[in-house]
Amino acid sequence: RHELSPHQGSGEQEIEASLRPRKLDDFVGQPRVREQLQLVLHGALGRGEQPDHVLFAGPPGLGKTSLAMILASELSASIRVTSGPALERPGDLAAMLSNLAPGDVLFIDEIHRMARPAEEMLYLAMEDYRVDVVVGKGPGATSIPLDIAPFTLVGATTRSGSLTGPLRDRFGFTAHMEFYDSSELSEVIRRSARILGVDLREDGAEEISRRCRGTPRIANRLLRRVRDYAEVRSDGAVTREVARAALEVYDVDELGLDRLDRAVLGALARFFNGGPVGISTLAVAVGEEQTTIEEVCEPYLVRVGMLARTPRGRVATAAAWRHLGLVPPEHAVG
Ligand code: ADP
Repeated sequence: RHELSPHQGSGEQEIEASLRPRKLDDFVGQPRVREQLQLVLHGALGRGEQPDHVLFAGPPGLGKTSLAMILASELSASIRVTSGPALERPGDLAAMLSNLAPGDVLFIDEIHRMARPAEEMLYLAMEDYRVDVVVGKGPGATSIPLDIAPFTLVGATTRSGSLTGPLRDRFGFTAHMEFYDSSELSEVIRRSARILGVDLREDGAEEISRRCRGTPRIANRLLRRVRDYAEVRSDGAVTREVARAALEVYDVDELGLDRLDRAVLGALARFFNGGPVGISTLAVAVGEEQTTIEEVCEPYLVRVGMLARTPRGRVATAAAWRHLGLVPPEHAVG
């Protein structure tokens, strides 16, 4: 995947889990989403009702899974975790739903990738806490309605646009996750450094916060890479200078763009004269999956004003040309 190399081993995944905020108060940033969630939770808790289904939408690594877990713990409920691609057969979902205890939270990551029959089963479950289990095949098949426990579905998606209308309508609210600003990211990094026991200096935190693509998961990963560098090549202290030297080794530039980000901009400028070019052509040119470019790369490039999406395709802005050290052509926008 398009995140910082070298690839994470299971040890690194454990570290990531240890850095996950557990309470709403530990969760940095996203003030709007936090306020909305608090209202939904306390409203339902006050009335003794099961809270509405919630959808978290936004790029990877912004805290959707963390918020789902926090939501369950604020409700003192257990959470069952699955993902869209894992729910290929409706039977898999039926089994999951019928095993829920009253009040449970069911978390479905990448919910936009769920197969259609499972999705249709989910409609009834979300609305009426029921599933229709189909027994048998062909003309003799019968469907048996089954009551399930009241639950709250939490969905996460990197593409709210590709959710079907009927599914989207069944969520009580959709929380749109935003990229984090550098002071919020510094806070994430300082918190992680405390947990990991890293000797982090203020200017080191600041440097990492400006280079992590507005994303806490990347902030934490860069912190670990910079710590390695600090321990191996220096005295262990993470200062600005050490952070800069380490991030250079990992091909992370001053804006936090990584190799794939720069490959996309470079292809746009060099092969397509700045665009517009269709996303599938662009994906072939950089040798990466279209969905990775759309869901991981583009949101940040758009946010920093390097790339524009137009009806005729993707366009590199003048800022992108300059960032690559090239002279923007007359027609370049921005
Ligand atoms: P997503 O589900 O959106 O891909 P995660 O919830 O898995 O993102 O977050 C990835 C990691 O980033 C978590 O393990 C956590 O350490 C960190 N993280 C994300 N959001 C926050 C936040 N708001 N405050 C602190 N850490 C965060």
